[in-house]
Amino acid sequence: MRVEITGTFKKIVKMRFENGILKVVANRFLSDKKIKEIIEENIDWINAHKTSVKEEPKPQIEKAKNDDKERCCPQSKDSQGQLVQDMFAARQTLILGDPVNIASCSSGCSYLDGKTLYISEKFYANRDSRLKAVKSFLKKLAASGVADEVADFGSKTAMCPVKIEFRENNGSWVKCSLANQRILCFDFRIVQLPQQLRKYVIVHAFAHFSHPLHDCGFWKFVSEFLPDYRILASELDEYKILKDI
Ligand SMILES: [Zn+2]
Repeated sequence: MRVEITGTFKKIVKMRFENGILKVVANRFLSDKKIKEIIEENIDWINAHKTSVKEEPKPQIEKAKNDDKERCCPQSKDSQGQLVQDMFAARQTLILGDPVNIASCSSGCSYLDGKTLYISEKFYANRDSRLKAVKSFLKKLAASGVADEVADFGSKTAMCPVKIEFRENNGSWVKCSLANQRILCFDFRIVQLPQQLRKYVIVHAFAHFSHPLHDCGFWKFVSEFLPDYRILASELDEYKILKDI
């Protein structure tokens, strides 16, 4: 069976058959493994409809859960260098670890369509205003999608934050000293990281609820959820450039 998956930032998974192809529209915070599981859960419906050529939408609401393994996709040095240049020029950005082009639109609001982030033409002409519009979009995206990931982890571990914020932090992905007071103050650019690195930052933040320092107990907590946390910490280091943009 041929399957085509399109990402969306709406919290939905929709399936329909079109000319014998299963077309899936799924929340971009869901991993491929989770989408595959959802397809398998709906296999009876799929089997009943796969011979049909007319469109029959079947919406299914599924909250994003990101507890699956996912590695960062290494890029070649050349393409990475071009991406960094384009990000500083606000011609491209990174969303959930994927490069996204930036283009202008006549709409007053920024929106993401596939691999293109459209921003209002009134902000597009100038690099600084373009960058401001991109950052504003990323902040909103972090406050919706990443906040859900944080809430999911909190409910799984029965740990309740006092407050969750997404700001422009100087230097840190999450403010460790505030996390000790159960205030989670993330850098909004966490939304630009791949799934497993977002999870690393989130687990790091929750570990501070019971461990104020980066001591043995702290890393033991982190390793319970992320046994390969050392590799993730070093991968995260490669993304610090995002905070210089
Ligand atoms: Zn820390």
